[in-house]
Amino acid sequence: MMQSLPLIWFVGVGMSPARYQAVAPVVLLGEEEEKQQFVLSPVESEDVDEGLMEESPMESSLRRYLYRETKVRLHQPVFRSTVLVAYDNRCAVCNFAHPELLDAAHIVPDHHELGLPTVTNGLSLCKIHHAAFDSKFLGIRPAAGRPIVEIRQDLLDEVDGPMLRHGLQELHGQPLMKLPETRANRPGKEQLAWAYERFLSATVTDVA
Ligand SMILES: [Zn+2]
Repeated sequence: MMQSLPLIWFVGVGMSPARYQAVAPVVLLGEEEEKQQFVLSPVESEDVDEGLMEESPMESSLRRYLYRETKVRLHQPVFRSTVLVAYDNRCAVCNFAHPELLDAAHIVPDHHELGLPTVTNGLSLCKIHHAAFDSKFLGIRPAAGRPIVEIRQDLLDEVDGPMLRHGLQELHGQPLMKLPETRANRPGKEQLAWAYERFLSATVTDVA
């Protein structure tokens, strides 16, 4: 930390076999002893270093802002690998299995208080199902067993090619195809319920 040397941070993202996501390069900016943690920053944000040296009110508010941004940036790769590993690198909705075309989607967006970058607020989704989920074309209804996929009514009524038919319409009413083996890693009830409400509200407004 004193020498501002770049480090590689290995964050545990899965057990048996143990998996780590490397986040690099990072530097240590400070130690929060009472919380037993360090403040990390990606190396290239030189602004953070400048903010630390002088403490004008503007700089210290800039520093707080950068800390927050930094925290988000450091969390993203870890969130992604944790979620993808938990879902065995498959899309929860359609079981598609190529990580290059998979995203770790937030169930509740990260600006919301429930929207933490944790595996229970994550879903491994292929690009099309991620976009469909975020745009409220596709909803996930909480259920006693596996959550159920729902497609918005106006899309169900539409007639179009194979992407619409096989990629969306035929999934309506089907349970999620892939869920984490470990129960503790499955989507949180609260988060799913929040996202389903949002999906339903879109259905009512858009169809009416
Ligand atoms: Zn998919």
